Amino acid sequence: MKTYWNRRKFIIETSKAAAIITALPSFVKPTNQFFDQTPLPYNWNALEPFIDAATMEIHYSKHAAAYSSNFKQAIEAEVKELNKRNYDHIFSNIERYSSKMRNNGGGHYNHELFWSIMKPGGAKEPQGELAKAINTYFGDFSKMKKMFTDAALQQFGSGWAWLIITSSGGLSISSTPNQDNPLMSVASKQGTPILGLDVWEHAYYLKYQNKRAAYIEQWWNVVNWNEVGERFNASIA
Ligand code: MN
Repeated sequence: MKTYWNRRKFIIETSKAAAIITALPSFVKPTNQFFDQTPLPYNWNALEPFIDAATMEIHYSKHAAAYSSNFKQAIEAEVKELNKRNYDHIFSNIERYSSKMRNNGGGHYNHELFWSIMKPGGAKEPQGELAKAINTYFGDFSKMKKMFTDAALQQFGSGWAWLIITSSGGLSISSTPNQDNPLMSVASKQGTPILGLDVWEHAYYLKYQNKRAAYIEQWWNVVNWNEVGERFNASIA
């Protein structure tokens, strides 16, 4: 299967013609059409010493795998119209679906984003248009990092911190509980996430125990700013 993507086109070549997605999720970078896990683009230990191999393996192959599997079950059971089996429809109508759909759909999308926005040895800070936008909306990169870090620290219990593109095209910081995300109709602050940080304890407890602040601080070392920049560029193109 080959996937081609740009902002207005979403063409998927597949032998399973009946399952072709016809909706145009203009704000979502598609990953896997059938909501399978995308293979991790690096080894379990690639993000050492900032994120340890054991955490990565359990996180990807147990936690995230379960979200993918349960999301597919929920879709099969609840979304009978094939052209509605896409993030755009499901997230923007999430209150119509079960908590299984909400928790696992969010869980799958959020983790797919998470793996993609990390990378060993990438750029240390945003580049290009994204860097300019961060300066415009936050003052500078360090202020954005501080706001994002605060959001991640202050998210009580399990959840995520986000850098999002708002409906007016600006940048903003938010956080969501559990596996919610800013694409969901239930999110208090909505937008297109281009950077997300998992602050569930399963994301850091083996290495950092209760020290969420230390995990967040170290995580900045593995952010894939090229990918975040590409997501930003795709949304403003
Ligand atoms: Mn997680």
